[in-house]
Amino acid sequence: MPTTTENTLIIAKFGGTSVADFDAMNRSADIVLTDPNVRIVVLSASAGVTNLLVALAEGLAPAERTANLDKIRQIQYAIVNRLTHPDVIREEIDRMLDNVARLSEATALATSNALTDELVSHGELMSTLLFVEILRERNVPSEWFDVRKIMRTNDRFGRAEPDCDALGELTQSQLQPRLAQGNLIITQGFIGSEAKGRTTTLGRGGSDYTAALLGEALRVNRIDIWTDVPGIYTTDPRVVPAAKRIDLITFEEAAEMATFGAKVLHPATLLPAVRSDIPVFVGSSKDPAAGGTLVCNQTENPPLFRALALRRKQTLLTLHSLNMLHARGFLAEVFSILARHNISVDLITTSEVNVALTLDTTGSTSTGDSLLSSALLTELSSLCRVEVEENLSLVALIGNQLSQACGVGKEVFGVLEPFNIRLICYGASTHNLCFLVPSSDAEQVVQTLHRNLFEE
Ligand code: ASP
Ligand code: MG
Repeated sequence: MPTTTENTLIIAKFGGTSVADFDAMNRSADIVLTDPNVRIVVLSASAGVTNLLVALAEGLAPAERTANLDKIRQIQYAIVNRLTHPDVIREEIDRMLDNVARLSEATALATSNALTDELVSHGELMSTLLFVEILRERNVPSEWFDVRKIMRTNDRFGRAEPDCDALGELTQSQLQPRLAQGNLIITQGFIGSEAKGRTTTLGRGGSDYTAALLGEALRVNRIDIWTDVPGIYTTDPRVVPAAKRIDLITFEEAAEMATFGAKVLHPATLLPAVRSDIPVFVGSSKDPAAGGTLVCNQTENPPLFRALALRRKQTLLTLHSLNMLHARGFLAEVFSILARHNISVDLITTSEVNVALTLDTTGSTSTGDSLLSSALLTELSSLCRVEVEENLSLVALIGNQLSQACGVGKEVFGVLEPFNIRLICYGASTHNLCFLVPSSDAEQVVQTLHRNLFEE
């Protein structure tokens, strides 16, 4: 972990695996206590809990519902029971679990996104309560802070967007005074509240984003993201064991990686960090001594090729216009239909009479195909012939000055001769070159490219 001097303020975020159980929570507490500049801590729900809550919110048969509730209870009780004085906190956790049970029975749940968010928020509420208790038993005074007091969002439940002005003001009035008193603050990632006070969530994996938003509002000097991998790698080490850790990377490069599927950071995390030029450190709470990656606004000698990202489950839409030849406004119409259905386009290529595009699923809970409602397809079909293909994966090569370099095409595609490559996007961004491959080939494509571009 990078060293800091006095008068620095650090916000540290711990992901689900870092607060999964009693031992993980204690390791995370150790990290917090190693650096007195860490004064505010953002937590995810204990690993697995959010998935169980989401399943409850989606509606389960009674037996499954009971089984899910039991699993959540087990995860949280396993922590409670290791405390020296479990009684007080057990009562609070029981109250939370009762809420969860009650909400999961509510008949309105299936149709109410607001109730869903209310239900799902309990994961972070419980993990933070337990963490405060662990600190208390270690004689570290800390304060549980309900982030919903300051994390004002719009009411797009399930994927709410923060109101940064309101967040800034509320942080100054509600949180800053608590910090000024010297308290160590423990708060929730992922959750917020809209103007009427109803609970919202920022989208799956949103705790990173919370940490960055709070970091910006508090003008911290660094945002530390503790997860289960010691930093950002040239590609996913589970796909390519020879992947190397990147010690220093720029915001742009890391943002591209997050957007294109590198799971280390939530794609929106870097927005506030870039805006306010706050370095972000990524490390593993299981092995803090292993170091990590520092994301900041500049690195020395940025390499042409930096990393490879892989995003699975892509949906490709190909639209054939019957009268696109010399027509005007076809693309505009396509985009306005997609916009009306709240769909953001990801990659796109066009020819005179065809448009091929992939749907952006970042941050959403759905896969591409479930974004494709029949209403949307009907509307598009009235305009053109629509073809939908699934089982594709997106490979993104991230780098610097890619569109200005010579020979990139040969170097990349030369070794990919055995594979069917679709929808190549190259040139619009200096930071990436993207294409689709059949999902069954995706890992092999990444392995081949990595060997050629990063291992020799
Ligand atoms: N607990 C939430 C999720 O699993 C948020 C997070 O972990 O960042 O999506
Ligand atoms: Mg998580």
